[in-house]
Amino acid sequence: MSDKTSQTLRSFLWRAVNLYPDREVVSRTHEGRTRYTYKEYGERTARLANALSAYGIEKGDRVGTFCWNHHRHFETYFSVPSIGAQLHTINPLLPDTHIRHIVDEADDQLIFVDHSLAPKLAAVASGAPEFEGIEFVLMGETESDTVEGVSYEAFIAGRSSEYDWPEIEETQPAGLCYTSGTTGEPKGVEYTHRMLWSHTMATLTPQGIPIDDGDTVMPVVPMFHVNAWGFPFAATAAGAKHVYPGPSPDPEDVVRLIREEGVTITAGVPTVWLDLIDYVEDADVGLADLETIAVGGAAAPESMIRWFDDRDVEIVHAWGMTELSPIGTVSNPKYTLADADYETRLRRRTTQGLVLPGLEIRVVDDEGEEVPWDGEAFGELWIRGPWVTTEYFGRPATDEADFEGGWLKTGDIVTVDEEGYVDVVDRAEDVIKSAGEWISSIELEDAIMATDDVAEAVVVGVSHEKYQERPVAFVVPTDGADPDALSETILDRLGAEYPGWWLPDAIEYLEEIPKTTTGKFSKAVVRERYADEALIEGAAPERADHRTE
Ligand code: ADP
Repeated sequence: MSDKTSQTLRSFLWRAVNLYPDREVVSRTHEGRTRYTYKEYGERTARLANALSAYGIEKGDRVGTFCWNHHRHFETYFSVPSIGAQLHTINPLLPDTHIRHIVDEADDQLIFVDHSLAPKLAAVASGAPEFEGIEFVLMGETESDTVEGVSYEAFIAGRSSEYDWPEIEETQPAGLCYTSGTTGEPKGVEYTHRMLWSHTMATLTPQGIPIDDGDTVMPVVPMFHVNAWGFPFAATAAGAKHVYPGPSPDPEDVVRLIREEGVTITAGVPTVWLDLIDYVEDADVGLADLETIAVGGAAAPESMIRWFDDRDVEIVHAWGMTELSPIGTVSNPKYTLADADYETRLRRRTTQGLVLPGLEIRVVDDEGEEVPWDGEAFGELWIRGPWVTTEYFGRPATDEADFEGGWLKTGDIVTVDEEGYVDVVDRAEDVIKSAGEWISSIELEDAIMATDDVAEAVVVGVSHEKYQERPVAFVVPTDGADPDALSETILDRLGAEYPGWWLPDAIEYLEEIPKTTTGKFSKAVVRERYADEALIEGAAPERADHRTE
């Protein structure tokens, strides 16, 4: 195949600059809100490419970023891969030891770092041999007192705004991202140009995320993890306006940008939207032109979908993983539901949805047999396709239990119904095994979060002498709620929907549920910190004994 037909990222940049030169890129940074056009974006991206080349970055070299979502980070997204180098987005919220490990393994030559994250980087890098020889560029107009390095603006100053972009093979690595390491040491996933190209194209189909040139797109999901779900690439390919919410955006920042910049589509994990709901209710503000929120990374609670429906904002529920660049399924209802009533459509919209065109799935039980698509039988979801990785960075695929014959074994336990809607029951490690039977923590959480006066909830399995594991719920009540009354309401609600043995043996109240570095509820931390056996002392044993049901 000729290089000229390669599936590379550069074509998206070319299209945006030439077809939409006046479309805006808006960015909230520590310096304030800035805006420029795609034309200027293209020029700055070329200047960065010239600066990187002058610095000595070559094809195959890795360049790290330690940044929130802003225009300069976005410039690295196209510039670094388009010169043939590889963009390694580092999650700054990972533990120090993980950051040292991944910087060492990735062998980054240069790291772009935000001012607000410089103290964190300084602490991680101090005395660490993994950082020897790495230089830093500070994302802004000025240098920093904490980390030595030139400012980004000085780095690209005086460089030409034209770059003779090379032809790059589609198999060339363009990106690198590590899993967030909630289940052990982070593992690297390398994204080739072809993976990112095909992920972008599938995202832009009507079966994906509805991004158009008339849209204003704001990824709240961080650019330091799985390329903000590919939104910066997809929005550029479509010619949409970009809005980047900057360092640690809180709900007030997010709502302000939605209202002032006319954001039509945004994306993030459920906890972001739970916080936003609280803020919007308290501040009593509207969401202006917002039409769509892509929610993924964890299950979107049904109550959240209803809340936004009431405000004419559609939640598009997506499922994905770092290993698949990251989107795999999206809950767009099939055409057969066009005339269905609200509740029927909602039932499908709360699932993780239909697999994107380009991918294939199967569901496999413990014996390695495929289970039927009947909405009942469950097993592990396997997936394969052009943007699904078949190995981890630096580790031979044969050493891993996660891959088989081109399939990625996701570790997610799912059912698939006759129509192909995938419903994630649980992560394999989160499913609660009570007396040999399974309880879905996700389903219980969904029902608990639909209860009035509940702000946040997780359900984890705690070990139990007789029943292996029993569910315990951890709930954050809304201000002023009475815990005793709330526990009763929750148990009544669950009791009406689920068999007695599914009901949590205890409901514990917390001020906040701990979050992972990507903003999801961290069940691992909850388990470690709170769930010891003492919590379930006194639980009614008959509740756990489902054989009496
Ligand atoms: P990301 O941070 O992109 O979500 P990770 O690789 O850290 O990727 O996490 C992937 C895991 O998150 C999936 O294996 C799955 O367990 C969970 N997940 C992602 N999306 C959903 C969803 N919509 N519903 C339920 N679980 C989800």
